[in-house]
Amino acid sequence: FFAKPWVFVRGVPALKFLPPEGPPEIAFAGRSNVGKSSLINALLGQKGLARTSNTPGRTQELNFFVPDGYGDPAAGLPPIALVDMPGYGYAKAPKAQVDAWTALVFDYLRGRASLKRVFLLIDARHGIKANDEEVMALLDKAAVSYQIVLTKTDKIKPPAVEALVAATLERIRRRPAAFPELVATSSEKGGGIDELRVAVLRLAE
Ligand code: GDP
Repeated sequence: FFAKPWVFVRGVPALKFLPPEGPPEIAFAGRSNVGKSSLINALLGQKGLARTSNTPGRTQELNFFVPDGYGDPAAGLPPIALVDMPGYGYAKAPKAQVDAWTALVFDYLRGRASLKRVFLLIDARHGIKANDEEVMALLDKAAVSYQIVLTKTDKIKPPAVEALVAATLERIRRRPAAFPELVATSSEKGGGIDELRVAVLRLAE
């Protein structure tokens, strides 16, 4: 899947625009500015695919990506789809925007049988924050499997990454839907990207 380019298929601003259920979906979630666009671009090996931006809270749609050749519905259902979710926790976001985000994202996460896993991105410099905990609680309640992905690990020293991995694993140990392994990544340096690709491929099988 990763040898060829992926394509953007649709942005979903409301649940009624979701594509039909079928192919396994993997969603990427995280606080604004966590490095989600950069990670998706690194994962898919394409620079401009997911929008990298310093304007947090801008993408308010669920953005669907599929492997090359499946951009046209006539090609049939793709083997897998990646879903870039709008970032949360942007302090300056107006309440109406936060409410819209919550409605869209929570409804999607709760009600989507095709959703196989959520990669929950956590900035290695900040660790798990209160709003990450809220998302984890929702996923636990909805029994949606999620896996923590640390981002920007190049910004802290290797021993600090190791300590963070251990502390984070301990923190999620009792959470029922949390996957008991995490991936430490750097989109900048390429660390952990292959590991993440393997995780995606496993879910596509
Ligand atoms: P998003 O809002 O979650 O999509 O985050 P972006 O991908 O737009 O990244 C936010 C900021 O963090 C940008 O300035 C990126 O250049 C930076 N960034 C993202 N990933 C990394 C990384 O792995 N290492 C470093 N050093 N910076 C990163």
